[in-house]
Amino acid sequence: MTVVAVTAHRTTPKGEEVHLNTPYVTALERAGLVPLVLPTSLTPANAGLALQAVSGLVLSGGEDVDPARYGARPHPELGRTDQVRDEMEATLTRAALAMRLPVLAICRGVQILNVALGGTLYQDLPSERPGPIGHDAGEHDVTVDPLSLLFRTVKAQHLRTNSRHHQALRDLAPPLTVVARAADGVVEGVELRQPEGQWLIGVQWHPEDMTDPSLFQAFAEAALGVQAVG
Ligand code: MN
Repeated sequence: MTVVAVTAHRTTPKGEEVHLNTPYVTALERAGLVPLVLPTSLTPANAGLALQAVSGLVLSGGEDVDPARYGARPHPELGRTDQVRDEMEATLTRAALAMRLPVLAICRGVQILNVALGGTLYQDLPSERPGPIGHDAGEHDVTVDPLSLLFRTVKAQHLRTNSRHHQALRDLAPPLTVVARAADGVVEGVELRQPEGQWLIGVQWHPEDMTDPSLFQAFAEAALGVQAVG
């Protein structure tokens, strides 16, 4: 059994509730993994401890990241944010890297990954980086660096992906390198500049809602490797 942690968002319609879209669970189970959801409001200290019980980390999609985390003032079109989730996931990200746990970061996940490691974001893509591609809803092509782990994983230099993100990576965190972009230049995929035995892929699209299982399968293989060593 290979268990991986998955982050989630919280809503407060009637008391606070933790939510994770079921396609994440399905995609991870199909790859042979057992996903465990980490409560959004778990204390950062316990979030770090929780990683000791798992073989990988999935940073899932969700709301915008608070620009205060990278020293920017809020843009008028900034969406909903959750500072508690930001702090918990930033802690998780740094702990996972320190432990060399495999990390799969999806949509908001790649954004908090970048911010946690020292990068910044476009807070409102349509106004701060206007272009011909609508990233907020729909599909677009993505070009993948043929020398990347992402390319070896999806085995394609051109992908048609879904796209439903409001924010995007701006200044890249020093440990990361861009391995996929949309035709307008928006960053769609990152990995570690110097992996040194660590598996990490971040994508701006939602592979859990697509038919290609390759990202989840590769993540599962990496997690299995951690388990074998552990
Ligand atoms: Mn996009």
